[in-house]
Amino acid sequence: SGSASASTIKQVKLERESELRIEVGSETPLKLRLLNGSAEIFGSELAPEIWLTFPPRLKFAVFTWYGATIEMDGATETDYMADETPMVSYVNVHAVLEGRRNRAKTSSPNDSEASQGPRVIVVGPTDSGKSTLSRMLLSWAAKQGWKPTFVDLDIGQGSITVPGSIAATPIEMPIDPVEGIPLEMPLVYYYGHTTPSNNVDLYKALVNELAQMLETQFAHNAESRAAGMVINTMGWIEGTGYELLLHAIDIFKANVVLVLGQEKLFSMLKAVAKSKPNVDVVKLQKSGGVVSRNAKFRQKARAYRIREYFYGLANDLSPHSNIANFSDLLVYRIGGGPQAPRSALPIGADPVANPLRVTPVNIDQDLLHTVLAVSYAKEPDQILSSNVAGFVYITDIDIQRKKITYLAPSAGDLPSKYLIMGTLTWLET
Ligand code: ATP
Repeated sequence: SGSASASTIKQVKLERESELRIEVGSETPLKLRLLNGSAEIFGSELAPEIWLTFPPRLKFAVFTWYGATIEMDGATETDYMADETPMVSYVNVHAVLEGRRNRAKTSSPNDSEASQGPRVIVVGPTDSGKSTLSRMLLSWAAKQGWKPTFVDLDIGQGSITVPGSIAATPIEMPIDPVEGIPLEMPLVYYYGHTTPSNNVDLYKALVNELAQMLETQFAHNAESRAAGMVINTMGWIEGTGYELLLHAIDIFKANVVLVLGQEKLFSMLKAVAKSKPNVDVVKLQKSGGVVSRNAKFRQKARAYRIREYFYGLANDLSPHSNIANFSDLLVYRIGGGPQAPRSALPIGADPVANPLRVTPVNIDQDLLHTVLAVSYAKEPDQILSSNVAGFVYITDIDIQRKKITYLAPSAGDLPSKYLIMGTLTWLET
């Protein structure tokens, strides 16, 4: 514009079935609103003329089915229009799922098979848009009045709670484009690591627990059963990663498998499904708008995610610093631990450490800066099968006075004294 006092406000006119892809700048938030027409962000419709504020670094697209004018205020890393998107194929999937939900709803609730809505699992390599597609399918369903269950098995870049967890939550409203998944009462299991290879058996065991718990809830709730679930998975699709995908498909009784952006994975799953007549495997195109994120970016995103848990997206939460005696808290870890030498074991005993063994952890400096889950277990032997209430962050260990200082979402006593430790740490910045 050339003018020294140039306004940062900019208007963009979008043609039908096109989108504006945006990466917010790294320093300041971006304000955006819908001036006219209609538009949505990942399946969630924009209200006319209301300014929304997007935090730095967020990557998203504003899509319009029939045309829209968008107004932006602030700096972006990039913003560009694209008229080639896979949105029509995505919304067609949604329409098929809607049909299945309606059929499930009108079936007798006593027919546990027919009254079960679609159980969709989204699979594909990293950065293929799995989370984004899951989100769209959930938001479109919620807009029609369904309450589908979102299941997130991605321990690296999950969108329900802190990394290292698997979780599920009902989606009752289209997902807010800024706030993301609402945090009210999710069902969370803590694995404690950001990659499943740390303890594959534990990862599987927790996926089993989560699936079983949802099965019980569905048995008593015809509404959520008819709405079904959308399961987001990890981008690890080779070797053990592939085995874990098959495990998740089986254990959640998925009947729709959406494969994003990989021919090989699609044909492998298609072959497996031959022996499972009620499982549909569908290949979908990856959106050209999906942004690749390198290891460093992912690491940072995890740290922001932990920060967000305690402080909120816009620093709108006030976590509490608490002090406890060493004797007030019981910290456990699952698996690993010292491996007994064969000579110290009875003849015939297996020297390999039990990956599901729950062992007490000595409170010392090693706990500093770890993120621990607060288990709902009443006894140590329930830790493996219990979901967690939330998380604490250890900020100080005073060996002399035997005091431990931790950050918790709120003041007051923890719901339990049983804490689970993994390898997840965070450096508060
Ligand atoms: P991973 O398995 O690695 O967690 P993923 O396959 O779930 O990744 P997404 O998280 O859905 O991938 O997408 C990666 C990034 O690209 C996200 O920041 C997302 O918001 C962004 N993104 C997805 N689709 C678009 C689009 N059409 N335009 C702009 N950004 C997009």
